[in-house]
Amino acid sequence: MGVVKALSPEVYRKIAAGEVVERPLSVVKELVENSLDAGAGALRIELDEGGKKKIRIIDDGCGFYPEDITLAFSRHSTSKLTRLEDFDHLKSLGFRGEALPSIAQVARISLTSSTGQSGLGVRVNLDAEGEKEREECVCSRGTDMIVSDLFYNFPVRKRFLKSERTELNAILRYLEQLALAYWTVAFSLRHNGRELFSFPAVSSLRDRIYQVFGKDFLEGLMPLENDRGQDRRLKGWISKPGKGGRDRQRQFFFVNGRNVREKTLIAAFNQAYAGLLEKERHPQGVLLVDMPSSEIDVNIHPMKLEIKFVDNHALFSWVYRVLGAMLKGESPSQAAAFQPWSASSAVTAGPVGVDSADQKPFLQTGWIAEPAIVPGLALFDSREREYRILGQFIHSYIVVEKGGELLLVDQHNAHETVIYNRLSAQLQRIGKIPAAATLFPILCELSPQEWARYEDRGDELGRLGYELEPLGNRVLSIRAYPAELSDTQAREILRALLNGDDEESGGAVPKKLATISCKSAIKVNHPLTEQEMRRLLDDFFALDQHEYCPHGRPIVVTLSVEEIEKRLKRR
Ligand code: ADP
Ligand code: MG
Repeated sequence: MGVVKALSPEVYRKIAAGEVVERPLSVVKELVENSLDAGAGALRIELDEGGKKKIRIIDDGCGFYPEDITLAFSRHSTSKLTRLEDFDHLKSLGFRGEALPSIAQVARISLTSSTGQSGLGVRVNLDAEGEKEREECVCSRGTDMIVSDLFYNFPVRKRFLKSERTELNAILRYLEQLALAYWTVAFSLRHNGRELFSFPAVSSLRDRIYQVFGKDFLEGLMPLENDRGQDRRLKGWISKPGKGGRDRQRQFFFVNGRNVREKTLIAAFNQAYAGLLEKERHPQGVLLVDMPSSEIDVNIHPMKLEIKFVDNHALFSWVYRVLGAMLKGESPSQAAAFQPWSASSAVTAGPVGVDSADQKPFLQTGWIAEPAIVPGLALFDSREREYRILGQFIHSYIVVEKGGELLLVDQHNAHETVIYNRLSAQLQRIGKIPAAATLFPILCELSPQEWARYEDRGDELGRLGYELEPLGNRVLSIRAYPAELSDTQAREILRALLNGDDEESGGAVPKKLATISCKSAIKVNHPLTEQEMRRLLDDFFALDQHEYCPHGRPIVVTLSVEEIEKRLKRR
């Protein structure tokens, strides 16, 4: 007697569903993609217990017609594809018609939706056994989908779900990435009732990168745009030569709006930077590739994570060539002179934007506070200073005539000392460094070691002006940071503070103040305007002590007339 039997439809459906729905992330991914396909302009995502208990996605997209709902939840039903040839013009993220039926096999669903025509909609509850309830309701255009008790009927799968934190982190990472490519869509995420992020819709990729990863990341990037016509377009923000990060975590690729990790693109991107980055550095950025759907096959994996190109070679050489040309044309020291490319070079670069950040007069970044203007309190007029600025030598040292001597002031060391003194005074006076609130929460993913230190030193960081909120799984949200810093630096300096070892003599806090001062001070090789130099020197000469910076390095080289004359053999 044979032993081969056909699976019962119920078992088969569950197995097939398991291919699509593996964990909360898969549900979020499918539902979010559906909302984007439905033309949503705003997406609200709410999770309970890392999505294991509840996943809710609310969109303002086209909504369901009541009569379509049953079909949408049956296998291989989709509104996005009818004929095989449609694959060549696929513009949507979904097309397999598998997500909703699969999710319904392994969770309970409550769907409220309206096409917005009558102000009425429908609410449907369903689970693995099918539709349970249906009622008409008042509802504005869009869809509100609640998926609860994932794997309630699938105990084996349920047991293999990871911790709340792990699941949440995976979803966070996915949403952060996806949000990059859909900057005209607002995204927000709540977890266990707490808001984790909210990215309002913006008008450019640049602004979205700013929202998601903060200004310091953005400042290491430059814009890229290349339109070859015929649906072939490259767009992105990519590392400037000489910048880049420690690993490849922040390399994001999208092909026709689909987030992919694909080896041809990864290779082209990384190889374009050969010789342009320091050792152990990797380029970072967001690269959006648009190409005719007919040249791509996305239909090779139920989760649509993989993608195949019809012509890998052509894709590689296009991306590699465009990036290479652009990177070569812009040496790091010329960042300010970054000009749009001529039409003949087939590459167009965007406007200067943050690209010129390195060259921006530092006063604008708020590194040196504008002195408060108090009427009647102007102690001296700028024309009556006790020193005269002669100029700036190699963009690093301010040349000054003062008290009959010639001074070379190290701009970095001087600024560092000014900041250090100001911070120490504030700390003494009010017990805390003044903080500035962030516009958007800046997320900072810590290493396990950094996390342990954060747990030890939370109070101290508070006194130093940091207001931090742990989001779980080693992600910190920076709510406020030392007002002295620009928001660009808030994360980098937090890292530095968490990495410095505290066992050294001299106490931990002064050392940390020195770190903040050093990192936030103007660097050498940075051109300054006369006004900036004046403001710096006013502050600097007003200090009691100005020989050594907080790290003990000298700040000023002084040449007396005597010394000069001696060397010129006038004496
Ligand atoms: P696919 O996305 O591959 O078409 P799904 O099972 O994910 O398959 O969805 C089935 C159908 O349900 C979609 O084709 C679409 O018509 C409809 N649908 C799903 N989600 C939404 C939504 N948020 N708003 C409007 N329609 C939706
Ligand atoms: Mg879908």
